[in-house]
Amino acid sequence: MLDGPIMSHTIVVGAFAHETNTFVPEPVTRADFQAREEHLYEAVPENLRGTETAVGGVINVADEEEIDLIHTVSAFATPGGVVDDETYEFYTDLILDAVKENVEELDGVMLPLHGAMVTESDSDGEGRLIQAVRDVVGEEIPIVVTLDLHGNVSERMVEAADALVAYETYPHLDKAKTGERGMRLLLKAIEDDIDPTMHMERPPTIAYQPKAYTPSGPMAEVMDRARHLEQRSGVLKVSVLPGFYHADIPEMGFTIPVVTDDDPDLAREISRELAEFVWTMREEFVEEYPKPAEAIQKANKLRAEMDPEDGPIVMAEFGSNPGGGGASDGTTVLREFLDQGVENAGWAIMYDPEAVEQCIDAGVGNRVTIDIGGKTDDNHGETIKDVDGYVKAITDGRYVNTGTSHSGKGVQNDIGTTVRFQCGANDSVTVVLAPTRASAFDAEIWRHIGQPPERLDMICIPSLIAFLGDYEPMSSEVILIDTPGTSAVNPARFDYERIPRPLYPLDDLADDDYPDWG
Ligand SMILES: [Zn+2]
Repeated sequence: MLDGPIMSHTIVVGAFAHETNTFVPEPVTRADFQAREEHLYEAVPENLRGTETAVGGVINVADEEEIDLIHTVSAFATPGGVVDDETYEFYTDLILDAVKENVEELDGVMLPLHGAMVTESDSDGEGRLIQAVRDVVGEEIPIVVTLDLHGNVSERMVEAADALVAYETYPHLDKAKTGERGMRLLLKAIEDDIDPTMHMERPPTIAYQPKAYTPSGPMAEVMDRARHLEQRSGVLKVSVLPGFYHADIPEMGFTIPVVTDDDPDLAREISRELAEFVWTMREEFVEEYPKPAEAIQKANKLRAEMDPEDGPIVMAEFGSNPGGGGASDGTTVLREFLDQGVENAGWAIMYDPEAVEQCIDAGVGNRVTIDIGGKTDDNHGETIKDVDGYVKAITDGRYVNTGTSHSGKGVQNDIGTTVRFQCGANDSVTVVLAPTRASAFDAEIWRHIGQPPERLDMICIPSLIAFLGDYEPMSSEVILIDTPGTSAVNPARFDYERIPRPLYPLDDLADDDYPDWG
C-alpha cells in the first residue's frame, strides 16, 4: 500500500432516480425533475455534499480519499407515471457523454439510481442505462450501482453492473451510508482488491409496502439474516429489495441480489437461502388495514383517553401517497375528520392548486369556502365540497428538512406557495394546501407554516410508512389506513397484465411451489 493519498482515480458519477407507478396515467417530464431535484455538473457536489443522500455518501468517501469525481447529474422526481423518452435520454446522455469523453482514462463508474424507473419505451430504465454504460466502457471497468430497496431489479441490471448495493432500511435512513458502501466497493474493485460477481433470486411473493418496514416485523428478520450472511468470508453485499408493486412490468418483484468476491456459487447459495426464508415468511408480509371511518373512530376513542402531554396519533393515508405515485389529494380520511367532528388535527400535504389560489385571493385571516381535494382523478375519493374555513397563513413553501427523515436531513424543499387552511370543528383542523405534489415525510412542513406538529392530536399524512422516520418518535399511536388511490396498498385493487405470475398473494400457491431450483 502507498502512504498518503491513494493514486488518483477517474470516476464518473451519475444519479438519476425515479420510482414509476405505471397506474398513473400522465408521463413524467423534465419539468417534474426540475420541480424536485435537478443538479448538473459541479452543482451536484455544491448542493449535495454533506447531505443524507446516496450522492452525499459517494462524495464523503471521495473527499476522504482525496478523489476528484466527475459529476454529471443528480436528478429525481416525485414518483409518478412513466418517464417520457425525451427526459430519459436527456439525463442518461449527460452520464453517457461524460463516460465517453473520459473513457481513455476512466477507472470506474458510480451510479446512484433507484431501480424502479419505467420509461415510455422500456420497463427497465436502470437496466437500459447500466447496459449503455457497459457498452461504452467494456468489461474491465467496474460499474457500481446503488438502489432504493423499492427497486424492481432486472436480470439486465445484474448482468451489466459489477455490484448492486441497496438501502438496508425503510424508512430509508441509510441513503448516505449506502452511497459510501457502494463507493468503497467501487474503489476496491478499481484497485483490484476484489472481483465482484452477482447472483439474484426472486421469491414469488409480494410484501405489502408497510410490511417492508425494517425496524420491526418480518422485514427486520430478513434484514437481520442478510446482515448475518454478509459476515461470511467472500461476501461483499447482500441486498434485499421487496420491490415496488405499483408497476405492471415483467421486472416487478421481490429480489435478492448478492455480491461476492469472485465466487458465483457462494452468491447463488446465499441468495437462495434468503429467498427461501422470505418464501416461508410470505404470509407475514400481507396484512389488512382499517378503512377511514373505522380508523378515525378508533383514533377518536384513543384521543379521549389521551393525556394532554401525549404526542399526536399519526396516521398514514396509503392511497394518495405521492411518494408512491398517489395524487396527494385523497379525501377519504379528511372527510372523516370533518364528519366525525375531530378537533386539533392536521392533514398534509393536500395537492390542490385551485384551492391555494382561492385562499390567496381571500387573504390571510379571512374566511373562505372552498372545494378540497379529489380533483386529479376518480381514484382518490370525491372532492369535499363547500368547506368553510379561514386562511391562517401563506408561505413561500420553502423549508429545509430537519428530522430523521426518509426525505433526507438538510434537503431543501420548495413546494410553491403554501396555505395553512383551518376548517372543521372550531376551525381546529389544519389542512396544508400546496400547488405541487410533495411528500410531508419531514415534519418541518408543519413548523414552517406555524403549526408545531407535536401539539396536534391527530396528524394524517398521505404516505406509506416513510413518514414514520420523523413522526413516530413524537407520536402516541400510529394508525395505518387502507384508502383508495393509485398507491393503494392492497395489490388486489390493481389489474395486472405484465407482472410475473403466479405470485403470492394474488395467486394460490402451495408451500412446495417454491423454491424449485431445478
Ligand atoms: Zn423507497
